[in-house]
Order: sequence, then C-alpha cells, then structure tokens
Amino acid sequence: MAEPGEKRQFAAQAVAFDSILELPCDSRISPKALQFPDMSDLSAISDLGSHERRKSSAEPHWRAELRSAIRDPYELCRKLKLPASLAEESAASTGGFPLLVTKSYLECMQPGDADDPLLRQVLPRRAELESVPGFVSDPLGEEAAQLQPGMLHKYHGRVLLVVTGACAIHCRYCFRRHYPYADSPKTITACEPAIAQIAEDQSISEVILSGGDPLTVVDSRLFQLAARLDEIPHLQRLRIHSRLPVVLPSRICTEFQNWFVGGRLRPIIVIHANHAAELSNEVGDALNKLSSRGVMLFNQAVLLKGVNDSVTAQRDLCERLLQLGVTPYYLHLLDRVTGAAHFDVPESQGRTIIDQLRSLLPGYAVPRLAREEPGAASKVVLR
Ligand code: SF4
Repeated sequence: MAEPGEKRQFAAQAVAFDSILELPCDSRISPKALQFPDMSDLSAISDLGSHERRKSSAEPHWRAELRSAIRDPYELCRKLKLPASLAEESAASTGGFPLLVTKSYLECMQPGDADDPLLRQVLPRRAELESVPGFVSDPLGEEAAQLQPGMLHKYHGRVLLVVTGACAIHCRYCFRRHYPYADSPKTITACEPAIAQIAEDQSISEVILSGGDPLTVVDSRLFQLAARLDEIPHLQRLRIHSRLPVVLPSRICTEFQNWFVGGRLRPIIVIHANHAAELSNEVGDALNKLSSRGVMLFNQAVLLKGVNDSVTAQRDLCERLLQLGVTPYYLHLLDRVTGAAHFDVPESQGRTIIDQLRSLLPGYAVPRLAREEPGAASKVVLR
C-alpha cells in the first residue's frame, strides 16, 4: 500500500498521463474532481500505468496509436486540406467535449470534403452549442437505471458495466457525452460490489462491458475483470460494445483475441459502424480475425443526418458489414442528447429507409429500426 504522500505523487502522474490521452471521461470530469487526492484510482482500470511503463518498448502498438490520436481541430483541418475557418469554428464549439479522432479513422475520410460523413461524426460544429427543446443531458434516464456506480440494469437478464469513460474517438452524437464518469469505479476492487450483485442475481445471464469504450482498457485489467465474471456460474455471455474495431483496428491484437475466445463465456462484440467508408480493409482484417475464431459480431448504427440518412448509405453499410461477417442488427434513432440535435432524423424517414432496404437486401441484412426509451423493458422496435 502506498503511503498518502506516495499516492499523491502517483496521482499527479496519472493526471498527466490521462491528459495526454485526452480521455473523454476525464475531460468530462469537473476540474473539482481532478483535484481529488486519490486520482491514482482514475487510471487504474484503464491501467494507464506508470511513467516507466509508458516509455516501455513493450507497449502495444494500439496504445501508441491511441496516444497519437488527433485532438487539435487545426491539425485535423490541415491534414484534410480544409479551411482554417472551419477549425476556428470547431475549436470554439467543443462544449467541454473535445475533438478526438484516431489516425486510422482519419485515413478513411476524403480530403477537401467538409461534408465527409466521417468528419461530420467527429468535428465539433457551432450547432452543438444551441439549446434545443427536448434534448437533454441524460436522454436515456441512465441515472435511474444505475444499481450502483458504474452498473446499469435496464433490461431483464442483462447488466451493463461502465468500465471506463475513455474512448478512441469522440462521436459528436454520443448519448453519454454528459455521463458522470467520475462516479464510476476505476479499479477492479471498486467493481467488486457490482460483481457481487451479479453473482447474487440468478436472472442475469449476460454482462455487457460498456463505457466510454471498454476496449480502451488494457488487456491485463480487462482480463482480471472478465476472470471474475467467468467464475459466476449463471453467466453465459460476455458482450463488448466498442467502436475500437472500427476506429482503431490494431486493438484487435493477438493477446486480445486469445483471451476473448479462451474463456467460458460466449464472446460477443457489437461494433458501432455508421458508414461503409469506416470499414476499411484493415478493419475487415480485424473483424475477420474475430469471426474466424467464433466471436459473434453485430453492428448497431445510429441514423444521423448528413452521415447515413439515405437508402444508398444504409444499403452500402449493410452490404459491407455482411461482407465482413457482421450482422447489421440495429439502426437506432438518435438519442436526444444535448448538443446533438443537428444529427436528428425524423422517425418517418427512418421507416421509409428501412422499407426501401427491404426491397434491396435479403431480410437478414436489414437492421431493425429502434429507439431506446427510458424505463422501457426493452428497446422499442419501430420497423
Ligand atoms: S459513441 Fe461510443 S465511442 Fe463514441 S464517444 Fe460515445 S462512448 Fe465513445
């Protein structure tokens, strides 16, 4: 155990390292929270580690790539040959949720196109600052679904563990962009009450790791948590919801693959791809590695204005997903979170898109149009 003085010293390192990574949870933690003396906890579950470990040549490639992600709108616009005025608007529009985008994702964008559907997902725009009636900070009522910090029980048989607030990319439409990540457990020890509650409840058969993005958690910590879940006999499945296979495909490293398929629990990954252009060959290779080892792969997309709100965009996405062995499962209507109103697509348009997809694709390739409603017993399937 560290003495208080030592702990504070470690805390300072943790803060410094977190700020390098520009973790979304941390960026959303209030400046007051950042002064807490035990910030060592903050990095523990993501194992952001010591200064020495940071410099280690053994650092996985994906972590180095994550650290080199772009955070500066001017740099992003420069790389995409877009005007500085756009970067200026962006820099003034983050609303406390800064730009973050990986270089892998950047490579899938079209230089010179300010309306690129991938760029629109990550570049803060002035519209985010507008206050629109009906758009709120907790659109899914997750605060009420929280059994204890970091553990959400929304639907029968499944619980969701928010294991980190960190992501590899900041999606401007994110329904958790205002989530109180500072209150979530940051260590395996802090997760124990949630694990104990899962062990006591025989009705739970599936644990969903969520965040933030659970795959930003380093393998050693992820393995520890999963090993604890593996010991609970009534659990059958371990599901991970992650954007990393899409925006940082190097994350699907051999160690992760071996671990994920090697446990007792049935492994499932839900990727969150919104556009066919996101699914590069590199992403395809990563997904093939998972599916060839028996991981069930599903996709949940969000219907986003200016990104994928056309039959063509949705058809191309579904076709590409099938090519890569991923089932297009849900097409979600936007969760009405503050700052994302400019992405909203009317439900009627969503229904029309789905109807037209049915005439173009086999039934198994057409996602369910769905909406999540606070307090509902399941997602509401609209089409
Ligand atoms: S949508 Fe997912 S990956 Fe994107 S910012 Fe939100 S939690 Fe992170």
